[in-house]
Amino acid sequence: MTTIPILRVALDVPLPRLFDYLCDAAHEDDVGHRVRVPFGRGEKIGVIVAVTGASDQPAEKLKPALEVLRDMPRLPMDWLALCEFCARYYQHPLGEVMALALPPMLRRGKSPRKLKDKLTREGDVDVARPTLHNEQQVAFSTIEAATGKFQPFLLHGITGSGKTEVYLHAIESALARGQQALMLVPEIALTPQLEGRVAARFPSAKIVSAHSGLADAARARGFLAALDGSADIVLGTRLSVFTPLPRLGLIVVDEEHDASFKQQEGLRYSARDMAVLRAKQLDIPIVLGSATPSLETWFHAQNGRYALLTLTNRAVADAPPTVRCIDTRREKLQDGLCGAMFTAIETRLARGEQSLIFLNRRGYAPVLACPSCGWVSTCKRCAANMVVHLADRRMRCHHCGCESHIPAACPDCGNQDIHPFGRGTQRLEETLAQRFPQARVLRVDRDSANSPTKWKELLAAVHANEVDILIGTQMLAKGHDFPKLTLVGAIGADAALFAADFRAPERLFAQLMQVGGRSGRAKLPGEVLIQTEYPDHPLYEALIDHDFNRFADTQLAEREQAGFPPYTFQALLRAEAPQIDQSLEFLARARNAASTLLEENPALTEHVFLYDPVPMRMFRLMSLERAQLLVESANRPALQSFLTQWMAALYAQKTSRDLRWHLDVDPLEF
Ligand code: ADP
Ligand code: ZN
Ligand code: ZN
Repeated sequence: MTTIPILRVALDVPLPRLFDYLCDAAHEDDVGHRVRVPFGRGEKIGVIVAVTGASDQPAEKLKPALEVLRDMPRLPMDWLALCEFCARYYQHPLGEVMALALPPMLRRGKSPRKLKDKLTREGDVDVARPTLHNEQQVAFSTIEAATGKFQPFLLHGITGSGKTEVYLHAIESALARGQQALMLVPEIALTPQLEGRVAARFPSAKIVSAHSGLADAARARGFLAALDGSADIVLGTRLSVFTPLPRLGLIVVDEEHDASFKQQEGLRYSARDMAVLRAKQLDIPIVLGSATPSLETWFHAQNGRYALLTLTNRAVADAPPTVRCIDTRREKLQDGLCGAMFTAIETRLARGEQSLIFLNRRGYAPVLACPSCGWVSTCKRCAANMVVHLADRRMRCHHCGCESHIPAACPDCGNQDIHPFGRGTQRLEETLAQRFPQARVLRVDRDSANSPTKWKELLAAVHANEVDILIGTQMLAKGHDFPKLTLVGAIGADAALFAADFRAPERLFAQLMQVGGRSGRAKLPGEVLIQTEYPDHPLYEALIDHDFNRFADTQLAEREQAGFPPYTFQALLRAEAPQIDQSLEFLARARNAASTLLEENPALTEHVFLYDPVPMRMFRLMSLERAQLLVESANRPALQSFLTQWMAALYAQKTSRDLRWHLDVDPLEF
């Protein structure tokens, strides 16, 4: 009697296990094909991860698979291994990892219609390939020397120092060797620009972009082109780290410090960390580039695990902008701005240059309040204030999106004299338009640039010099050159200096450095003015000296002393339920389970530290009340081993239907 082959299948269900199916027609080499199987009362598409002769399930319980989908090349073994690693590392069901890694169309078992390959691309021009300057050449040759070896590099250089040029050279030689290159960038909004530059540089290469903004079929087509080896370069946001690339020879992660590389929902993976893992798996070099590297990456560059490559100067313009603090302690601000800021803007207006005022808070004012009874506009569903949006006469919660009209009087006491307190970009826009009636003022934030088309229009207006004063959130800070921009003013930055989140200073430094880098990129020298009550703060002093290294080393010393990452590894168990008590109670039980586990396993006890469950800082979101439990360890393998056992215990527990929980490994947000 011959046994019927059994397919072990990863299915997109929230259970940390695989599913076995019988399949007469299966070959051993069907691993990596998708398969259609019966599931519950319906059907599902999964990925075959093994073809075996035996199952843990009793044979009579196994159902037959419906169809092995062999219409696309098999997903390669290294892709399966990457997903498996990701599932293990983030304690997430493998089927869900694969569901995220596959484009939606392929996940549904469909295939895109084939398109005729266009042979010529419009707009492609052979652009000059600059000769690398000295430091770039050193960086490039060092990367070259690592060909075929696992070696992470940190390419550290300010905006405009020529990092992209180094990436392009490294990609060029990878292509010349017949390899594929993968380049990750933080934002969808930035890909078209970079895509243009890459396409112009490699007119005969097949370039595929991969991000969630693409139409289903386009994304699936790109994935397939990468998979069958016909794509040479894959350029995309975090999810592109999961693109199968049989000839992959080089990975580049631009702006590696950017928080958008970490997914904040579902599978909470870091694409940057997965990219490093992937490079290791394939024995290839990976280049992480940034002007303000994450402290994790900086730490590795200091301890020698990553090789540090430095570009000290701008590639074209001669000097970085001058950075100055304006001390506002002894001055009465006018509508939130100090006299020196008004003067600086005036000077730019007179010279026909552009100014950018950076305020990382959109809306008109963060809250509406009644001075007589103390009422404030809070969201009914979140532990947050409703933000005043005067532009469309609404109040809006920035966390859940719910809206209401602006009341004419205090809902509690009837007082008609209620005020918006504090300021956001809309209010700043109003202030500047009043103060400089002759100036063309433009606000760029997620409200004004709420579609890719809008965003392009706004950028075009800036480039066409149709704008004198720009007001922007961090949206404007990334990746755009404005040749006429010579002043960047930062207001409201101080809040991040003393924030409860230990990563806030790191983010502030990166933001200010990045937004400052927008100025003076052409022949005109740039100036950055920071309005602050703490002009002597070491963070600002380091910024004034353009000294990331000093800032980073100080931060690392503080983190080491406080026992924070990168000196320790963290995982956060979060729970949410209609009542905070339910969440806390679940976490208390989870903590007990963890304690028991540790008691039974003395080898782990000394390495793993459990904190107490606490309500989250924003403890209510969309009517769900949230709490968290932090687990820490200085020993990564110990933490991983503990988490695996702990999760098995938690998955086995029954929880009430209205409670949800998840684990966040290496959390960025608390
Ligand atoms: P980064 O990626 O660090 O911001 P880029 O690589 O984009 O820097 O370089 C900034 C500008 O300088 C670009 O316009 C680029 O074309 C130019 N550039 C870079 N390297 C050179 C070089 N070696 N010679 C001439 N121009 C260069
Ligand atoms: Zn009132
Ligand atoms: Zn809300």
